Amino acid sequence: MATDCLFCKIIEGKIPANRVHEDELCIGFPDINPQAPVHLLIIPKQHIASQAKVAAEHTPLLGHLLATAAEIARTRKLDGGYRVVVNTGDDGGQTVNHLHLHLLGGRHMDWPPG
Ligand code: 5GP
Repeated sequence: MATDCLFCKIIEGKIPANRVHEDELCIGFPDINPQAPVHLLIIPKQHIASQAKVAAEHTPLLGHLLATAAEIARTRKLDGGYRVVVNTGDDGGQTVNHLHLHLLGGRHMDWPPG
């Protein structure tokens, strides 16, 4: 855990979040500022600052995060599709320095993103 990390505080229960998913490796909860009818964040319990810090040892964890996103999307019946986003660094629009997947669905997504 990183003491100054918002998402570590959510994992530790120091900041509340409605956990829609939890297992030994990750949790999922609604984004506080949703950009789609379904907008969940899926975050590893292990503190990894960003996608830019990912290493080969994280491969199983990353697969688990994507599989969890797919499982939640099926549960939410996002049968028409959805988007999984990993904002990375300043240019990528990352604002919380703890690796997270955005799972966005329930509306049509445009491309390119802003
Ligand atoms: P990023 O901008 O780093 O890709 O995504 C961070 C996300 O965390 C943003 O979409 C933001 O709305 C969300 N967020 C920031 N603070 C909180 C919080 O305290 N609780 C929840 N549930 N989401 C948060």
